[in-house]
Amino acid sequence: MYALLIKGGFLVDPAQGLYGRRDVAISRGRVAAVERSIPESKAKKTVDATGMVVTPGLIDLHTHTAHGLVRLSVDPVRSCLLRGSTTVVDAGSTGELTFSPFKKFVIEKSDARILAFLNIESLGMLEFADIRPRWTDQEWPRLLTAVEEVFAKMFINIENTVSTIGRNRSTIVGVKWAHHGMRGMGLAREAADKARCRLMIENHFMPQAFKHVKRGDIVTHLYHNYLNPNAGYYDGLTEDGKIRPEFYKASRRGVILDVGHGKGSFSWKVAELGFRDGIEPNTISSDLWVGNVNGPVYDLPTTMSKFLHLGMKLLEVVRATTTTPAAVIGRLGELGTLKRGACADVAVFRIKEGRFPLVDSYGKGRTGSRLLVPMRVVRGGFLIA
Ligand SMILES: [Zn+2]
Repeated sequence: MYALLIKGGFLVDPAQGLYGRRDVAISRGRVAAVERSIPESKAKKTVDATGMVVTPGLIDLHTHTAHGLVRLSVDPVRSCLLRGSTTVVDAGSTGELTFSPFKKFVIEKSDARILAFLNIESLGMLEFADIRPRWTDQEWPRLLTAVEEVFAKMFINIENTVSTIGRNRSTIVGVKWAHHGMRGMGLAREAADKARCRLMIENHFMPQAFKHVKRGDIVTHLYHNYLNPNAGYYDGLTEDGKIRPEFYKASRRGVILDVGHGKGSFSWKVAELGFRDGIEPNTISSDLWVGNVNGPVYDLPTTMSKFLHLGMKLLEVVRATTTTPAAVIGRLGELGTLKRGACADVAVFRIKEGRFPLVDSYGKGRTGSRLLVPMRVVRGGFLIA
């Protein structure tokens, strides 16, 4: 007797090359069977997924979920898990000084699976005090970028960062560098090498930043369109309306290109250029934080819908939110797939058809014809929504 049966859905599981009508049976928190038809009589409880899309639980590679600790964070259950993301990766909300309370009071207590990139800055992102009146209303970022050497001495401790990672291998998946100068990026590279883990950097100081990025590392905020106020030029994917050639090279050498939509990091114009000229994302993530959870990001499925609109196939959109991020965090097989024996994390969606406004981080809209709407969520075999 199976504990739970998800019946009648259209299964999209890129890791198994499955794209078609399948039933999924679950027992003891694991996927027990995936077959064309499993009778209801074989399960204690059945979820009717007729007309819906069934995927492995989504993995959101870039979120801010140190809820109640770092003020920019969203509630990982309400904003992520109940929207289909059974695994969320916090991208540097905490550093070596603030990770321990994050683990004790949030990660270990949450129904969502929370993993983390540890910020190279010891305090993490505490400077994002509020979204009012300006979300950079404290002066830290300016100080940090202006006096990099002083900042590095005050706010970065390689040895403690490496030892924190060493003590938390099951939770910390890498080092995060965010927007505070090239000196910090070099130190983040050093820490990641010493801890033998991946580095996630934001898409700034391009193309110079690529010298710090190796195969398997992640560049997030792929499609942002920032004017760098200090340097007076746009940095990121494009320069003078063209894609910087270094991005093609990075992609060829196995650097992971991640969306990280966020409040200021997804531009329709830049994304359309990327899709036209061959820079598509490896992973689609939300960069959910309090500044964008009430729009324009809302959740990961809305972000995925934007990539359907850009012409990405459903199979590839699901690959970029399950298989590939699972491989990036070193968990493919256990997570990111519904093959027999895998952890029973499942998301069930309805694809609504119609006309939907899809707004980027700069207030520009497109009209989508398909919207992914999360309907049911299973986490570790438990039906939670
Ligand atoms: Zn972020």
